[in-house]
Amino acid sequence: MTVPQDPFVRREQLRSALSTVRARTARACDAAGRRPEEVTLVVVTKTYPVTDIHHLAALGVVDVGEARVGEGADKVAQCSHLPLRWHAIGQVQTKKAGALARWADVVHSADRRRLVDSLGRGALASDRCVEVLVQVSLDGDPGRGGAPLHEVAALADTIASTPGLCLRGVMAIAPLGVEPAQAFSELAAVAQRVRADHPEAQVVSAGMSADLEEAVACGATHLRVGTAVLGSRPPLR
Ligand SMILES: *Cc1c(COP(=O)(O)O)cnc(C)c1O
Repeated sequence: MTVPQDPFVRREQLRSALSTVRARTARACDAAGRRPEEVTLVVVTKTYPVTDIHHLAALGVVDVGEARVGEGADKVAQCSHLPLRWHAIGQVQTKKAGALARWADVVHSADRRRLVDSLGRGALASDRCVEVLVQVSLDGDPGRGGAPLHEVAALADTIASTPGLCLRGVMAIAPLGVEPAQAFSELAAVAQRVRADHPEAQVVSAGMSADLEEAVACGATHLRVGTAVLGSRPPLR
């Protein structure tokens, strides 16, 4: 999908893609016996211009996801007039956690203690409360971020007891080479264990453009969808 320059054409393109994604989600909910209101669509706008976020807001999108700390900060500043919730979904360097805590409403990618500590300090310094998900590595491969399974419970405890942070649940990306349905059912089991200790941790962030149906079937509460709404991104550097 090429991005048209004409704002009217672009808005109609986004409207149509959004309604396709919403219909897919509704069908998946139906098949799983779930209500569509249980599932929040986070539209991942990384690499796309802020004008797209303006269009999305006009089309009723509330939750947007950004992967990079600086890009997110710039876009938040240019959208301060809009009622948006900002989700940080990418891997974060510890030294950038303070900057992230200034704009992110929800951080999906907490995967280590030092990052959590820095996020907490940043949240307090900017007088904010940041919602945090533990990113879980389902295959133990650190390449895409995520805490190994045996560290998840302790990390959840750390987040829950860190002033300025609020533990809200778990997140995962389906590992390459694993069936998404299998990955997301493993995540559901992790989510259940975290909830046993922390009843407030109700969020399960799972599912992207290609596997949102499997995520809904496994109980995802948040889908992170980029390509299916905005088009394919140029490859990241
Ligand atoms: C980019 C990204 C997404 C969106 O992926 P699409 O395949 O474009 O829907 C979701 N989650 C994370 C962590 C991402 O980095």
